Amino acid sequence: MFKKISYAIGIIFFAIFAFLILKNANLSSFIDSVENRTFDLRQTIMINEGAKKASKDIVIVAIDDATYEYILDTYGEWPLPRDIYADMINYLEKQSPRAIAFDLMFVKSIKSKNLADEMLINAFKKYDNIYTSMNFDNQSEDLRTPPEFSDKLKLNIENNSRIDFSQLTFTNCRTILQGILNATSNIGIINVSRSDDGVLRKMPLVVKYKDDFYPQLALKVGLNILGEPHNTYEIDKNSDFIIGDRKIYLDKDGSAILNWYGPAGTYTYIPMYKLIKATKGGKLDYNFSNKIIYFGTTASSLFDIKTVPTGKIYPGVEVQATYVNNIIDNNFIRKVDKGYTIALSVLLALLIASVVTRIKSAFSASVISLSTYFIYLLISYYAMRFENLWLEVIYPLIFSILAFTCAYIIKYLVKSRDFEQQYKLATTDGLTELFNHRYFQEQLRRQLEHCKRYNTSFSLIIIDIDFFKKFNDNFGHQSGDAVLRQVAQTLKRNVRATDIVCRYGGEEMSIILPNTSEEEAFSTAQKICDRVAQHKFKLANGKDTNVTISLGVSTFPKDGDTAETMIASADKRLYDAKNNGRNQVGK
Ligand code: GH3
Ligand code: MG
Ligand code: MG
Repeated sequence: MFKKISYAIGIIFFAIFAFLILKNANLSSFIDSVENRTFDLRQTIMINEGAKKASKDIVIVAIDDATYEYILDTYGEWPLPRDIYADMINYLEKQSPRAIAFDLMFVKSIKSKNLADEMLINAFKKYDNIYTSMNFDNQSEDLRTPPEFSDKLKLNIENNSRIDFSQLTFTNCRTILQGILNATSNIGIINVSRSDDGVLRKMPLVVKYKDDFYPQLALKVGLNILGEPHNTYEIDKNSDFIIGDRKIYLDKDGSAILNWYGPAGTYTYIPMYKLIKATKGGKLDYNFSNKIIYFGTTASSLFDIKTVPTGKIYPGVEVQATYVNNIIDNNFIRKVDKGYTIALSVLLALLIASVVTRIKSAFSASVISLSTYFIYLLISYYAMRFENLWLEVIYPLIFSILAFTCAYIIKYLVKSRDFEQQYKLATTDGLTELFNHRYFQEQLRRQLEHCKRYNTSFSLIIIDIDFFKKFNDNFGHQSGDAVLRQVAQTLKRNVRATDIVCRYGGEEMSIILPNTSEEEAFSTAQKICDRVAQHKFKLANGKDTNVTISLGVSTFPKDGDTAETMIASADKRLYDAKNNGRNQVGK
């Protein structure tokens, strides 16, 4: 019963703590940020183990530091005249690439030359596999009037999920060249979504501008490559973005969690200046046929550097490459629903609690609990590696520690209670509930030591019931036992709380009276003798009868200075009392 109540209390405590943790917003956002770190760690280990290979079909034409210097020397300040891009497009298209995507925005600037811009616009008109980007923002309407875009740039999204996209909704935009907007529908948005710690782990698939959805650049490229360019897409009730038979899981804020392939430099980089030189007859030893080509900046001076799970310095264009790689490989991460995470955490906690309560050795229980969590960690790692599943590990850890602690506390409460019960069992007599003979011997010796050391005295009384054999013979052993119990009660009731009343054996009892002189002990003995004689003892048959006792007293140090001599001396007086006619204290 006590055990059951203790366990119930343990479970209630666990539930209260768990509830408080889950309900505290600061705590859960802290837990989420630690969880994110474990995601980064898993991603890094997966890469170190060679679990993931980036697609060889993706190549980055990089505006790196060397290219930036080359442009400054050859064409002057950034941006590069747009006809140079047109030349590169024409060069590349001869080798039939699958797609050419610019992670660059061709905005209007004072350096824009109409003729040069026109050449780039013509390239967009001529080839349908060229993509470029735009970025939405929330600039004030005082600065610029929010532009309108034609329907061909928009996507219809049937949102059946609970994602509300409010974090991915924008009100303004610095538009790109109108000619490009007219020439193509291959325009993707490059807004990113970051975690609180500034690390870019996920990317929106679609973002909202005013009331309409627009595709991300990588989604736009990916949909065409997959052969799934539609006007309408569904996000189902499980937050999955449906592309044909593929499902891309979207996080609660509407972003897809990317699976990373390595630190910066995972993809093939071609410095753009080499490509520019090639358009002028220079030699470039690279075959672009069937490649997905991404143009973007990696130069440190052009500030498009992100922090991602696999590296602190990662160029934005490589995020785009990773993203399109995820689309082609159908390789996005699915984060396990919070409800399942909590259920798993509770399950793990129960497992660990039952290990702790069932296994005797604290060491083994700790090792098994640790191993249980460690196995869970391994499972979570392999779930991500082979199933793209993000099983959270921090909530399960916290719940496990909580369960472990609660279970230990309860276990020790139960144990100490068991110990108490066993101690009581080992020191008391079952019939009379007085202390037993062993305890008497122990206490007698302790009392002797104490009194020798502090030079004080104590007394001992030994009691024997008169004619008890005959009593048994007359009334039966049941009544004998009842009398024994009632004598014991009478003794207890008539001594001090500090006096130790024991069953010496058979129908003999003894009392140790600490700090008690011969006279005091004698009068106590006399009082007990009188009370027993007056007492109406209940028999098993319900009738009353009288019983008498004889008593012998001895006092330390006068009558003895060992247990044996003290007992012998009290025994002798008891014998005297018997000889003198019983029902008295021996003199
Ligand atoms: P006296 O002490 O007055 O000389 O006579 P007595 O009959 O009490 O003598 P004795 O000490 O020889 O007998 C003790 C009797 O106590 C023997 C036994 O039947 C009885 N007795 C001892 N232990 C128990 C017990 O636990 N229950 C019952 N019912 N009787 C017991
Ligand atoms: Mg006896
Ligand atoms: Mg007797």
